[in-house]
Amino acid sequence: MTSRLISALPRRVVVVALGLVATLAAACGAPVVSGVSSDFALNRADDGHVVRWNPCAAIHWRLDSRIAPAGALNQVNAALGSLSSATGMTFVYDGTTAYTPQVGTWNLPDSVVVSFGRHSGLPMGSNWLTGAGQIGEGGWSASGTSQANVKIVKGYVVIDTDVYNRSTSGQRTAALLHELGHAVGLNHAALQSEVMYPSIMTTSPTYYAQGDLSGLRAVGRGAGCL
Ligand SMILES: [Zn+2]
Repeated sequence: MTSRLISALPRRVVVVALGLVATLAAACGAPVVSGVSSDFALNRADDGHVVRWNPCAAIHWRLDSRIAPAGALNQVNAALGSLSSATGMTFVYDGTTAYTPQVGTWNLPDSVVVSFGRHSGLPMGSNWLTGAGQIGEGGWSASGTSQANVKIVKGYVVIDTDVYNRSTSGQRTAALLHELGHAVGLNHAALQSEVMYPSIMTTSPTYYAQGDLSGLRAVGRGAGCL
């Protein structure tokens, strides 16, 4: 049986502190969801189909919490709840692991690993984390027996715990949503109003915005089982 592997491209997010004051124009008590519904980007296989998980199968995941801050599991679970709502996908927690994702290595102990690690070169460092101020990285690996059935089979998120710890609560939320978005197949959006914009700023949304939601629908259960 042949297996085709598509390597995940580098997906990183950098925390940028802008000197801007976020102004929220909330009217009529309705939540403001920013973004533009067309502002999302997908990955496609050589034959053109969208590279995604089978959204109808439960996706099992583990948390590397060795140096994670208190409350990390709750924070990741909250982000996964948003991801589940947006995609219709189910995520099942299998417990902790001691595994740091590294470039080119896909021997993950579960379908998805969310790891709180450190900058490349430090103890528990990930060589995914090389950018100054980079808070995290997320990606996926896809395989199939033919071009037509290539799908994502592994996903990871690795967080730079030091950067995470000095980020605001909103930036932490945005970073988890962002990297998990990569892990289910989204690429970067063009506008700062999406959480999939390449940088997390003080003004970043702390929820999946309009374009993010469109992209997540395109990789989710509404796009059909695989
Ligand atoms: Zn990114």
